[in-house]
Amino acid sequence: MTTLRIKRITTELLDIPIKRPHQFSTEKVAVKSFVLIRMELSNGVVGIGEGTTPGIWWNGESVETMKLVIDRYAVPLLLEENPVYIEKLMQKLNRQIRANPFAKAIVEIALFDALGKMYDVPVHQLLGGLHLEKIPVRWALASGTPEGDIEEAIGHVGAGRYADFKTKSGKESPDDDALRNIRIAEGIRGRSSIGIDPNGSWDKVTVMKWMDAFFEAGIDFLEQPLPPEDIRGLAQLAAMKKVPIMADESLATVQDALRLAEEKAADIFSLKIHKSGGMKNTVRIAGIAQAAGISCFGGTSLESSIGTAACVHAYASIPNLDYGSELFGPDWLADDPVKNPLTIKDGSILVPDGPGLGVELDEEKVEKYRREEKGVLTR
Ligand SMILES: [Mg+2]
Repeated sequence: MTTLRIKRITTELLDIPIKRPHQFSTEKVAVKSFVLIRMELSNGVVGIGEGTTPGIWWNGESVETMKLVIDRYAVPLLLEENPVYIEKLMQKLNRQIRANPFAKAIVEIALFDALGKMYDVPVHQLLGGLHLEKIPVRWALASGTPEGDIEEAIGHVGAGRYADFKTKSGKESPDDDALRNIRIAEGIRGRSSIGIDPNGSWDKVTVMKWMDAFFEAGIDFLEQPLPPEDIRGLAQLAAMKKVPIMADESLATVQDALRLAEEKAADIFSLKIHKSGGMKNTVRIAGIAQAAGISCFGGTSLESSIGTAACVHAYASIPNLDYGSELFGPDWLADDPVKNPLTIKDGSILVPDGPGLGVELDEEKVEKYRREEKGVLTR
């Protein structure tokens, strides 16, 4: 029997429209861009993976940088290698390519998808087995006005679609943001609740000033209220023991997780498979959280059903996902490049049980949304 090898790896960019423009703290987006990877093994099995970022502002990577890092630097390190040595291959990438966790995660997803298909098991079985069959999903309210957000939240709760929500902040002044969020929380009180994500745009004094009001309004968590580097500030907010503090941008590597735990700077970790360089690192981070008594939340970079499936497999395999997830990407996009999109039902996303990621590419849609490369460096 000949040894199994990675024979071919290709990447392409897809631009998929979203249903409603989404306001982040720094920009508004109407189209979401993705890197799609295909990894073909010598036995004919093809693994797929996907990556996207909220924007280059988030951690410095974009779909264009991810594609370039994979094509030019990762592919030569992977071709002709045996894919069963996932850990060894990821360490090889880590040694030879510094940082770029989103690009590395895309590669890892394709490796796991290929092996899952080959062994005829879903990826969560390769990550240690299932803990949850479905994961609660929070929808992000981003209509632009408190009244619109209240109406949208109540509509979702009434229809049984989503039970809880998140808001984005950072576009207005911190004080105006705080007031807006309190209005939304009070407007849906008794029926639902919100967590607030200012993407690091608030300051400590403002948060301290509003903390009691947030607590009184029943706000579930404050996600990354301070800039990513301000670990001491997060620890001071967590020490107030009012609204739980969630770390998102402050948390990427396993070392970040350890530091946040040691400094008591977070009550909740927002996990994201791409920022941490893959599903396996994400499971490791959840282990550190578990040891430190920190809860986990299943974060998203708003992937399609491909990347979201990878998130679901990782998150469904960890025991301390106490705050559910925000895996609403497939519902937020106007289209999905797979034939069998993930199901979000009664406020929860179901874990796919097919081999690998459990999603199948729709080639017509890939063709439709593929970006024409103009003057972009390709192999
Ligand atoms: Mg966040």
